[in-house]
Amino acid sequence: MRKLSSVLIAILLVAGLVSIQAQERIAQDIHWKIRQEGTSNSQIMRTVHVLTDVYGPRLTGSPNLKAAGEWALQQMAAWGLQNGHLEPWDFGHPGWRNERLSAHIVSPVQDALVTEALAWTPGTNGPVRAAAIQLTLPQRPTQDDLTAYFEQTKDAVKDRMVLAGPPQQVLVTFNPPALRRDDRDVLTQFDPAAVPPAAPAGGPQGPQGQNQQQGPQRRVLTANQADDQLNQFLLANGARVRINDAGRDHGQIRAFSNRNYDVTKIVPTVVMRNEDYGRIWRLLDGGRAVELEFDIVNHTYPEGRTNYNTIAEIPGSDKADEVVMLGGHLDSWHAATGATDNAIGCAVMMEAARILSAIGVKPRRTIRVALWSGEEQGVLGSQAYVREHFGTFEDAKPEFAKFAGYFNIDNGTGRPRGMTVFGPPAAAAILREAIAPLKDLGVLGATTTRSRQRANSDHTSFNWAGLPGITVGQDPIQYQSYTWHTNLDTYERIVEEDVVKSAIVVAAAVYHLAMRDEALPLFPKDQMPQAPRPPQNQGNQAPPAGP
Ligand SMILES: [Zn+2]
Repeated sequence: MRKLSSVLIAILLVAGLVSIQAQERIAQDIHWKIRQEGTSNSQIMRTVHVLTDVYGPRLTGSPNLKAAGEWALQQMAAWGLQNGHLEPWDFGHPGWRNERLSAHIVSPVQDALVTEALAWTPGTNGPVRAAAIQLTLPQRPTQDDLTAYFEQTKDAVKDRMVLAGPPQQVLVTFNPPALRRDDRDVLTQFDPAAVPPAAPAGGPQGPQGQNQQQGPQRRVLTANQADDQLNQFLLANGARVRINDAGRDHGQIRAFSNRNYDVTKIVPTVVMRNEDYGRIWRLLDGGRAVELEFDIVNHTYPEGRTNYNTIAEIPGSDKADEVVMLGGHLDSWHAATGATDNAIGCAVMMEAARILSAIGVKPRRTIRVALWSGEEQGVLGSQAYVREHFGTFEDAKPEFAKFAGYFNIDNGTGRPRGMTVFGPPAAAAILREAIAPLKDLGVLGATTTRSRQRANSDHTSFNWAGLPGITVGQDPIQYQSYTWHTNLDTYERIVEEDVVKSAIVVAAAVYHLAMRDEALPLFPKDQMPQAPRPPQNQGNQAPPAGP
């Protein structure tokens, strides 16, 4: 074959007609055994059951999370994994757990209300009953606006149940979000060269008319700043309970946390389903007095300052000092039992390791499972682990050079559709070929990212360091629409057929990286993207992090 000119290659690459070939040798016999073990003897639903029904919710720093990690260690040891241990890291805040919560409207009607406590807020010290009041907070206020509003409102909140802002209008959804991605869409993302030609598509989509006009002079507070000041105001002026509108349909509640993790800095606070919140607001609007009663029992756990990542291994052989990792975050939010976020990610990775152990593979590199904590507070556990073990590309520890990839699952229950790796195109080409025999399970390709931003899940702690973190893209099912961070995130939302496929795909991909002669390639020195600068002000931002 004649050599193509580089210009022609460039044109073909742009046109998506050729892709980088890695020519991986695939262990077909092992693939067959992985499929057999993963479908015939799957333990995955039992693992999810224990992590959710027995130990959920698994909020960072809570006794539940620690117990879940200890159980996972025992279970993985029973499956033949070795070197199991909990690795501590310093969270710096106490743990917290809601143990009881009842909420009722007692006048002018009697009914139960659906609420969740905000994490790291205090309880009520027994049942409290008080009149409800509405706060109609200024929209996008400046400091002056907010101060003036507080001044005129301060006498009204004492001993009151405070509804913080009008209810959101949640419109009926006429076009429900898709449960699965179609193959063309997946291929376009993960293997553009394989997209079959199609009828000409519509033109590029223009921006969706976002005309946010900002006044030139107004220094508007951020939503978090205004919210923190409202908390201080309610505490200083003796409010009994703060009530937030969940603002979602069908009774969904997303309850996050008090951003400063200090129960002495905030009044008891709940998030109420939009339907109950709206009802109370409308009753008050109609001039009826409303009385509410809450009984909230929350506990803090000083020992939660030390958190743990859960680690276990299948030891390698001739390259035992090199490591391929797989993991997900074991911690969850507290409004439900954290099934799709992310007991299932942990269960898939535990199951992938169980499959490899059960079929008796002797990997060349060590295969290491990691179940992280502190992900929801900003990928804290994996960040601590990566710093401790690997350092960064710019400040590498000896283990940095022995690292051969980290697989992460944290996108719900959907089957895998593709993988995104931090690294050069050759890294994606290797993965693409490694999983090519699994196309029938729905996984269609692999692509790369150059971002070192620590963001939405634990693979980004590896990317941040310059190491090849690999995130598994999945069918959405009901993740963003129903289960992610909500009170509906339970065992029932796991699709067994999909998660069995995930474990098979991950087991095959991990095995491949553990066996090939060379480790998964990193960016060469002259192409390594720059490490992101640390954020400008690191206040008490406890973002509702990652998927
Ligand atoms: Zn998550």
